[in-house]
Amino acid sequence: MGRGSFTIGSIAGVRIGLHPSWLVIAFLITYSLAVGDLPDRFRGWEPILYWVVAAGVALLFFASVLAHELSHALVARRYGIEVKDITLFIFGGAASLEGDARTPGQEALIAFAGPLSSLVIGAVLIGIGLVWPQEQVLALIGWLAVINLSLGVFNLLPGFPMDGGRILRALIWKVRGDPEVATRNAAAVGRLVGYLLIGVGEPAREYGPDELVATPEEAAELLAAQLEPGDTVLVKGSRSAGLEAVAETLRELVDG
Ligand SMILES: [Zn+2]
Repeated sequence: MGRGSFTIGSIAGVRIGLHPSWLVIAFLITYSLAVGDLPDRFRGWEPILYWVVAAGVALLFFASVLAHELSHALVARRYGIEVKDITLFIFGGAASLEGDARTPGQEALIAFAGPLSSLVIGAVLIGIGLVWPQEQVLALIGWLAVINLSLGVFNLLPGFPMDGGRILRALIWKVRGDPEVATRNAAAVGRLVGYLLIGVGEPAREYGPDELVATPEEAAELLAAQLEPGDTVLVKGSRSAGLEAVAETLRELVDG
């Protein structure tokens, strides 16, 4: 588990950890919905109700990310891979698996389980909204449906080591018969996807909501908080000025 996380419980024998950085996201979601988005879209509620629904969305967002990671974990365990814990932090969640899949089929299913659960949750929420179009219900599930569908689609992008990249690695492993070659090829495609995402990210940073954009120093500190003592960090050169600054700050933090 990443440094500084605390255990909040366990599900099916998997320890669930929460990194304090997650509380930042929970607060931002609750605050921005309660004072901005919800009052704009739904008028005339009791003021407290906006906060209750907004906090409900933040909690269900937590449950959504947890369901995604738990899906990876339970499929992995089905194939005999032990799962130490799941940690939720500012960028999402991570399940720490103790070992690797033995076949490309297992690898693909473990990787696919997470995005599949996000897509199913998103579809179920849309279904609930269709049969129960009450204002507070729509407020509660509308944003979550979009987030879950985005989580599913985004994670399926072949950006190794994201889920889609691991599925791609499994496919190459199956075709070429060599897991090492598959890792190298999937990582190469992943770098390409990474550069494309940086290309998409630049305009998002330019025009996106300020409160969700961390400074390089904040991002570096959050990243550093995920590292265990003794971890090796490979910082690659990047054409993105933002990433350069993050890398520089990380280097300073690591070097002390
Ligand atoms: Zn995943």
